Amino acid sequence: MQYTYWCGVCQTISSHLSWEDAEDERMGHADRVHDGRHPEDESISGPLPPAPRFSPREIIGGWCERHDRQLTQLALLAIAVAIITTVFESFIKMVGHILG
Ligand SMILES: [Zn+2]
Repeated sequence: MQYTYWCGVCQTISSHLSWEDAEDERMGHADRVHDGRHPEDESISGPLPPAPRFSPREIIGGWCERHDRQLTQLALLAIAVAIITTVFESFIKMVGHILG
């Protein structure tokens, strides 16, 4: 067994074949033994999982995917502000024309 999950609160150790299995045990242990709360003292030991490889295209694509909705909302807000400003400006000119 390459990976070991350790809970320092209840002094439990379990062995796992993969990092993912150890992580599953960490989550399951918190749910089963600690009512869904993670113990302050816990760890997974073993070789670190391979770092995810990101290409700039994936990073930019991911950012655009995550912020696409916000950008659309921001664009709609900018259009709404422009319309309101134009209407308000016309109203002020009309009032000034009537009063002046
Ligand atoms: Zn525990």
